[in-house]
Amino acid sequence: MTTAFVGIGSNLGEPERQIAAALEELAAEDGIELVAASTLRETEPVGYLDQPSFLNGAAQLETALPPRELLERLLEIESRLGRVRGEGPRFGPRTIDLDLLLYGDETIDEPGLTVPHPRLAERRFALEPLAELAPGLEIPGLGPVQALLTELE
Ligand code: ADP
Ligand code: MG
Repeated sequence: MTTAFVGIGSNLGEPERQIAAALEELAAEDGIELVAASTLRETEPVGYLDQPSFLNGAAQLETALPPRELLERLLEIESRLGRVRGEGPRFGPRTIDLDLLLYGDETIDEPGLTVPHPRLAERRFALEPLAELAPGLEIPGLGPVQALLTELE
């Protein structure tokens, strides 16, 4: 079993409900155990500014699935919750966004899968929930989560 962290975001169609639904879907997956969920925080959009603010949090999982398979499941859950990819602007509004932030202490750099998530170090809305779930967390290749947060200040 591997400990993995998933970033969760939503800014369309009742974000709180979307995130609750995503957590239920994660918990219901074979090979995934939902260990903990962070509190949710409201975040101003980045990249594409003309959209509602986001609600963001993170989930801590224990999983028997290899990282590719886990990402596939995340993308399937996004589709089931009504996210349509390839529509609208990059970083634009979405019903649900599930990102594989960390997979154990692995670093992965393959087409379609980069872990730690490529924009983790610059996203306070991803780092804060991680620090809340695991204050002593060490981000592979990047350092302690607390140090990354301090660097953002
Ligand atoms: P973002 O989450 O950065 O706003 P998207 O959700 O649109 O962007 O993701 C785009 C693609 O990024 C996904 O189709 C996926 O294949 C790829 N990707 C690469 N690494 C990861 C990761 N660690 N977590 C989630 N998606 C990833
Ligand atoms: Mg994503």
